[in-house]
Amino acid sequence: NQTPGTPRSTREWQAADSAHFLHPFTDHQALAAKGARVITRGEGIYVWDSEGHRILDAMSGLWCVNVGYGQPALEDAALRQMRTLPFYNAFFQTTTPPAVMLAERLAGIAPGFKHVFFSSSGSEANDTNIRLVRRYWDLMGQPQRQVIISRRNAYHGSTLAAASLGGMPAMHAQGGLPIPGIVHIEQPHDWAHREGAARGLTRDDFGRLAASWLEDKILELGSETVAAFIAEPVQGAGGVIVPADTYWPEVQRICERHGVLLISDEVICGFGRTGQWWGSQTFGSRPDLMTFAKGITSGYVPLGGVMVGERVAQVLIERGGEFEHGYTYSGHPVACAVALANLDLIEQLGLVQRVREDTGPWLARQLATLQDHPIVGGVQSCGLMAAVQLSREPRTGAAFDPAHAIGMVCRRHCFDHGLVMRAVGDRMIVAPPLVITREQIDEMMGLVRQALDRTW
Ligand code: PLP
Repeated sequence: NQTPGTPRSTREWQAADSAHFLHPFTDHQALAAKGARVITRGEGIYVWDSEGHRILDAMSGLWCVNVGYGQPALEDAALRQMRTLPFYNAFFQTTTPPAVMLAERLAGIAPGFKHVFFSSSGSEANDTNIRLVRRYWDLMGQPQRQVIISRRNAYHGSTLAAASLGGMPAMHAQGGLPIPGIVHIEQPHDWAHREGAARGLTRDDFGRLAASWLEDKILELGSETVAAFIAEPVQGAGGVIVPADTYWPEVQRICERHGVLLISDEVICGFGRTGQWWGSQTFGSRPDLMTFAKGITSGYVPLGGVMVGERVAQVLIERGGEFEHGYTYSGHPVACAVALANLDLIEQLGLVQRVREDTGPWLARQLATLQDHPIVGGVQSCGLMAAVQLSREPRTGAAFDPAHAIGMVCRRHCFDHGLVMRAVGDRMIVAPPLVITREQIDEMMGLVRQALDRTW
């Protein structure tokens, strides 16, 4: 039993949880009525709850446990670093070896990037992006370039600024978001636009059309006011929206044409998820900045940051003086030591290549067998992230009545049968640990099919 403190019964954990723990993105009355599921340990692609049930974690925790649970190399790295130097900051002209080594290492795996700014999370890293791009344009003598364009349903984090960058209507409905200077365009979601803009278009033509919405917005605002465009290579929390191959190259051309900085939010897509180190490599874009978090440490400890391309880094370094921004834990030595061990392991196990050449294509093939299921309207995947679109009538693409919350029903069936899957509206999502094998993908897909059968 790896549970900290005195062992307690599930009911005792749940009672204390309800009494004291305010959870992220949670309806607490609903939680109290049911009681939280208490997850006590993990191994490989599985976790166990306090009742001893084994659960296949097809969401890698929260899109982060890329090397799977229970990797001794990461645990040892943390312990070694804690014993040597548990913390020192990178303010005031000091540095630490793990942070230097990680910065150097990241520059080696991110083509075109030599510099990194560390944070503890993806949200903080995106706040850093806002500071960086606005500072860049100030230093370039174009302070009017303030606006950042993002996409509807994007998720870029939960701080005030990152939630504003994101395009989640439910988040914007609380607390007066978005903050000024951020505007949103539609995402390249062919299913959502099937009755509208995408009607009658090939997937490639729709990709080009969706990219053109960025240029329309830049022209509407005036390119002299636009600082940057931010997007996830594949929108993750928005429902694993895999864009057509035509989308990103066209976005790249548009940003270049108008001098707009391109920020690729790689918090989910980075570190092998799409079959390359970075999602932008998979889709052939060349961003100026890249946000990362999650997979950098496989979630074992919090760490995030921004890869800063030379266009921005040189201006910041040569003309910027002191950059008035940073976090206590920027370059935290324990987090950086774990990240280094994590990157070593990803390389030793050949995970990026394995996703690209083996497990990614295998998942795509297994997903395709769901196409004939009576409530599956379509499937999409990129590497080891995938979506199953539920439909009341796949032949016509008719949607379920939202009142049925069909995705949540399906998710509950999954959970009851030992599978963690995520529901985004009517899209069922998987993003398993990158260590998953073909046999385990088959096991996962068997559970997915069972859940779909029960939902139907
Ligand atoms: N960006 C993307 C694409 C994400 O998916 C997330 C989290 O899911 C974030 C940013 C925010 O990261 P964090 O939760 O570490 O702040």
